[in-house]
Amino acid sequence: MDSVAPLQSWFGKSVPAGGSVNTELLITESYSSRDIGIPLRIIRGKLVGPTVFVSGALHGDELNGTGAIRSLIVDGDLKLVRGTLVLVPVLNLLGFERHSRYLPDRRDLNRCFPGNATGSMATRMAKVIFDAIVRRCNYGIDLHTAAVRRTNYPNVRTDFRNPECMRLAQSFGAGVILDGKGPKGSFRREATLAGCPTIVVEGGEVWKVEPSIVDCMKRGVLNVLKELNMVEGVPEVPKQQVKIKTTKWIRAERGGFLDLHVSPGSTVTAGQPIATNSTLVHQDQNQLIAPFDGIVIGMSTLPAVQPGEPVVHLGRLAGAKTARRVEKQTQQDELQRTAHEHLSTNIQIVEPS
Ligand SMILES: [Zn+2]
Repeated sequence: MDSVAPLQSWFGKSVPAGGSVNTELLITESYSSRDIGIPLRIIRGKLVGPTVFVSGALHGDELNGTGAIRSLIVDGDLKLVRGTLVLVPVLNLLGFERHSRYLPDRRDLNRCFPGNATGSMATRMAKVIFDAIVRRCNYGIDLHTAAVRRTNYPNVRTDFRNPECMRLAQSFGAGVILDGKGPKGSFRREATLAGCPTIVVEGGEVWKVEPSIVDCMKRGVLNVLKELNMVEGVPEVPKQQVKIKTTKWIRAERGGFLDLHVSPGSTVTAGQPIATNSTLVHQDQNQLIAPFDGIVIGMSTLPAVQPGEPVVHLGRLAGAKTARRVEKQTQQDELQRTAHEHLSTNIQIVEPS
């Protein structure tokens, strides 16, 4: 028998079962000695259930997650039955204020968890966030985009050996799941270690709210909430999802200008040309070739490169047959197909000569 959830308090604000509230977590003080707080939205179901956080802009310039969370806040579809949902549109508030990935002290907040109360500004902030949010949550979803001058095809990153993380990743339903615990000090790695299984979702570019990415992120969050019985219904996931253990950045061999032959979400077979690099007057061509059968999970949006610069991030697939299956799956799932088409229109794709 489900029991009615008791009153909760979030950073000084009471939230009854079935209610929702906007609140603020104080994380530091400004140069002008003002309090700096992260705005949050707390939504509660009537019944007892898990507590889940969804965070955006942990890198302050990665705004697709912020767009998705803001859209969930005003979305009538989000009817929480059980548990508590902690929505954090912008986790790295100081980076966000500067349109920057980093904090003002040039540290990456996503390498500072679980934090340190007597350490640097970044680690102190990380500690406040970790203690106040992660330690009160049972699960987490951390929304990201590619770094500057790159874009990512929607994918989930998680530790394949952790069954609870895999449960979240598969129910999210991005179609592509990459293996890995995440770097030391990263939010999802440390949260998972602290007993709050957390996945990372990647999609799109910095400084934008891209509609096809927002749609993938929103569906994914609702799917996870359905899986955890916090929202009614069953997750809408693609029939098959591809699990990738190895990825490789294909790097430019020569300096010059790129003609790209693939786009985010494209599948490739070993030996297929993925980009051609030439001088500004189109001479001295150098072709980059796919070293294995794979799927484009990320790529550069900047066509000018020097030797060693990353061009295409390829996820390894089990073979040409798998590549064909993945291509079919992308076409069958409306949100994946739309994301593939939408991200492709942002980049000029030319046929290899
Ligand atoms: Zn990021």
